Amino acid sequence: MSSRVVIVGGGPGGYEAALVAAKAGADVTLVERQGLGGNAVLTDVVPSKTVIATAEWLTIAHRAPELGIRRSDGADLASSLTVDMAQVNSRIKDLVRKQSSDIAARLEHTGVRVIEGAARLEGPHRVAVDDTALEADAVLLAVGARPRIVPGCEPDGERILTWTQLYDLTELPEHLIVVGSGVTGAEFAGAYHLLGSRVTLVASGDRVLSREDPDASAHLTDVFRERGMTLVGGRAATVARDDAGVRVTLEDGTVLEGSHALMAVGSVPNTSGMGLEEAGVELDERGLIRVDRVSRTTARGVYAAGDCTGVLPLASVAATQGRIAMAHALGDAVTPIDLRTVASNVFTVPEIASVGASEAELKERGLFYEVSRLDLARNPRAKMLGIDEGFVKIFGHTVTGQVFGAVVVGPRASEHIYPLSLAVAQHLTVDDVAAAFTVYPSLSGTISEAARRLHRIEAEG
Ligand SMILES: Cc1cc2nc3c(=O)[nH]c(=O)nc-3n(C[C@H](O)[C@H](O)[C@H](O)COP(=O)(O)OP(=O)(O)OC[C@H]3O[C@@H](n4cnc5c(N)ncnc54)[C@H](O)[C@@H]3O)c2cc1C
Repeated sequence: MSSRVVIVGGGPGGYEAALVAAKAGADVTLVERQGLGGNAVLTDVVPSKTVIATAEWLTIAHRAPELGIRRSDGADLASSLTVDMAQVNSRIKDLVRKQSSDIAARLEHTGVRVIEGAARLEGPHRVAVDDTALEADAVLLAVGARPRIVPGCEPDGERILTWTQLYDLTELPEHLIVVGSGVTGAEFAGAYHLLGSRVTLVASGDRVLSREDPDASAHLTDVFRERGMTLVGGRAATVARDDAGVRVTLEDGTVLEGSHALMAVGSVPNTSGMGLEEAGVELDERGLIRVDRVSRTTARGVYAAGDCTGVLPLASVAATQGRIAMAHALGDAVTPIDLRTVASNVFTVPEIASVGASEAELKERGLFYEVSRLDLARNPRAKMLGIDEGFVKIFGHTVTGQVFGAVVVGPRASEHIYPLSLAVAQHLTVDDVAAAFTVYPSLSGTISEAARRLHRIEAEG
């Protein structure tokens, strides 16, 4: 008899695992209460990256005069463009629906049974959905997370918003106050500013994106300021609204007034009230499910993946954890997750992509490393494209030249990080990276050149 697998949650942690398990011959049931694709598709990754795509296109208009592109009537191209927010959001909703139904079709095609509803555990091998009880040899919990709500700053869905509520806006906010300057806050602040809103960004750290590479976050902080965004240090104590707008009061008493507020202050896992602890699944003090590197929870036969585990809140990590869980549950070869090879990106303009170890981690681990940093502005292709910002930074082992990590800041850095991600995953050296041909002229030439600069000439005899 084939193994019975029940997966709770249809985001990347859940649906990728369902596909893997069904292809491996398991009898798979996936339970989802909201819609296939999870928050990743419905409210988080897909909608945010789609609104950012519109914002990014607008930046090309800013470069138009330098590139010799003018309006036929002589007017300035950038200032004559305007954003139709209703159209932007309706495009987003169409894309979300399409992506969600593509996932549904793939699951159906692969033989996964999908049940709509909210699941709860009735023991490590039994999942209940309304009146239906599902017996399972293995259960995967991939229930994700939701926006954290700070008391005194509760969203109303109209003027005080979480990121999941932005897509019903039919008009661009006149003055958006973004509370939180982590990845989500920075991405939305940057995007809405480029779309044409006035933006005030409230940062609790000393700079925007304080957990990213210090050069990268300093660069983005400068870019935001130069574009005219207002950056304010502090934490929001309360947010109130009336018919005309919002008032954000910071802990030090500063009052900020705007038309809308976006609360981007982190997430909390969807792990309460579903019988987890009663079934032996241990949670930490923040409600995150404790897992090991092969996605096992403390209850035998119960696995967990994605944002509900707090391992790293990325869709790619969720999917990897889910696949590993299924490999383990079904007796396939298992490679434990290695967070030292994860690539990630901040989708601001410019983008900030990173892979492997950060400089801070290298220092902490006491490793001998050298840094090579090259600005993109000196790259011939960048000059042709009118790109005058960004850089490539590579961390290589002082003796062996092994690539430990890298940061790319620039347009489509998310694409350019891939060769460096390959280098980190495969333990390649800076010489290996430099030895591969790059197209001339191309932005990737700077990656190769940065690696070449870390080459060491062996001392003779
Ligand atoms: C604004 C924003 C932008 C982001 N952008 C990126 C990005 O560009 N790249 C990236 O890699 N990551 C990004 N992330 C992170 C990414 O969204 C998450 O890491 C990813 O969604 C995690 O996937 P998951 O499967 O764990 O959970 P989710 O995608 O949250 O899915 C969990 C699903 O479980 C369902 N569920 C919960 N409880 C139950 C229950 N009891 N019964 C049935 N169903 C249940 C929920 O309805 C939900 O659909 C972003 C996050 C945010 C907030």
